[in-house]
Amino acid sequence: FLEGQGLYNPEDDVIVLTVHNFKSQVMNSPQAWLVEFYNSWCGFCQRFAPSWKALATDVKGWSDLVKVAAIDCSEDENTPICREYEIMGYPTLRYFHEGYQPGPQNVGVAVQKGEDVMEHRRFLIDRLITEQKERRGAQYPNLLPYTHNALTYLFEGAPNTVEYAFLVVDRPGSYLGAAVTLDLHKTHTIVVRYVNSNQTNLANLGVTVIPTVIAMDRNHRSEMFTIVESRDEIRNSISRFLNNKRVQVTDDTPRQEIFTGKWLDVKVPDMATLIQERSRQALKERIKRMGDVVFQMDLETALRYSLKHEVATTKLITGEKLRVLRAYLGVLRKYFPFGRGGQLFLTELAMKLSEDPVQGSTLAEVIQRAEQEDSLVFSSPQQWLACRGSSPTLRGYPCGLWKLFHYLTVNSAEQNINDHHANPLEVLDVMHGYVKNFFGCYDCSQHFQDMAARREMRNVSSLDSSVLWLWMAHNEVNKRLSGDQTEDPEFPKVQFPLKERCPVCRNGDNTWNLVEVLRYVKHVYSSINVRYIGAD
Ligand code: FAD
Repeated sequence: FLEGQGLYNPEDDVIVLTVHNFKSQVMNSPQAWLVEFYNSWCGFCQRFAPSWKALATDVKGWSDLVKVAAIDCSEDENTPICREYEIMGYPTLRYFHEGYQPGPQNVGVAVQKGEDVMEHRRFLIDRLITEQKERRGAQYPNLLPYTHNALTYLFEGAPNTVEYAFLVVDRPGSYLGAAVTLDLHKTHTIVVRYVNSNQTNLANLGVTVIPTVIAMDRNHRSEMFTIVESRDEIRNSISRFLNNKRVQVTDDTPRQEIFTGKWLDVKVPDMATLIQERSRQALKERIKRMGDVVFQMDLETALRYSLKHEVATTKLITGEKLRVLRAYLGVLRKYFPFGRGGQLFLTELAMKLSEDPVQGSTLAEVIQRAEQEDSLVFSSPQQWLACRGSSPTLRGYPCGLWKLFHYLTVNSAEQNINDHHANPLEVLDVMHGYVKNFFGCYDCSQHFQDMAARREMRNVSSLDSSVLWLWMAHNEVNKRLSGDQTEDPEFPKVQFPLKERCPVCRNGDNTWNLVEVLRYVKHVYSSINVRYIGAD
């Protein structure tokens, strides 16, 4: 039950960074780095990974200029890096220029996330152009658009070794020319420039159809190839032209079609792995047979993850974040199923919040001490049990976080059953604040805040209604994600609880019987029903 392995493998073109190599690779590097800070449990990161891999392959030929990499912030040991770089949501993309030196004001430049490989490439090109405008990126080819109305300036600034110049002419907003300029930058005998032109410019350049490529030699003899629709086609045309002139072309950016499919690397597990797999399988089946059961181990693992990877990774906690964190610790101290060691740990953490601002690293030290084996804070190893997915990147933390907050709403309702003045929003407000300020999955957080407004969370008027509000909200997310690519095939997203688990929870017409649903949810998440591993 080891913690996850990341979303990228050595076979991918994405360079895997860790706490051990981040600084040695990225600092003082002759190349720039475009780094994805991600979290392997985050559904958005999982959906994002294929296009990030595709980008790394797509711009492989530019790797002497900029490298595409990723670091998994859900790995314990990488936490200090993610804190230092103030990563508060996933995936986060940062660009580190060549020769980068870290500093308090220099945690890399935020780069916008794209929807697909083409958009990633566009945002990367935008960044490279900006770098050049800001007088960095000296190793890049000239990425600024060609602004002259005549071709005679194409060799301007080019070394004497350059024999041919190419001008890619395309419509405004096109990235074709810049991409080809980067693709061919290793061919030192040519220079590629581009112009994204309006009609007036086109007439001046003698171009009638776009995209067009104009080739010119040192004697200002020019040739034009038109109707070159794609980046590959432009590169092929330029290569053909140069081959005819017996000029060697260096273009190691892969062609699109080469990368349409990859063979799966099927590995045969060894005996030890097979035995381990078998005992895991047995445990998994046993847990499934137990039904809707909450394990102490999942609650503790979610709490540890939240404190270590989301709270303590915040460099400086102040303002709303600090208020939310104090309230979070408040409800944990009241309702989390901890023994005495755990209670002392939460008290110590809460004491550290008396100052404003609070350094995340101060909290990290307290958590690290609590994790030492003899500290008696945690009763179980940091592993998932019922929240374990069928692969390391599925389920895990978000599953644990849902369970943690269901547990807290239910136990607030149970403990305050006779207190008619208890605040019905005590736990939901904390959850809302936590998800808004700390939950690393940006888009989940946004959806949750929208849902809280739409489903009038603030109008919840009793503790029982707060239990039901969260049940209903979770079911809405389940419905939206049913059939999504991030769904674990072994744990499909269903409307909770299943009919066979609670037949009385549904009326004859299949509507919910809310009295029975409340009874069932309270039963599942009640402190007396929380199980320890090994208990049947
Ligand atoms: P989960 O949905 O995580 O459920 C965990 C366990 O809770 C289940 O196994 C079941 O035992 C129990 N359970 C299920 N439904 C209920 C219920 N209605 N009431 C009580 N108990 C229940 N992912 C996205 O891709 N997009 C999003 O917008 C998004 N928003 C999220 C918002 C929040 C606040 C959280 C915590 C997570 C969000 N996620 C989102 C992640 C997603 O909801 C799942 O947590 C994740 O996909 C893992 O799913 P899972 O199969 O482990 O089950």
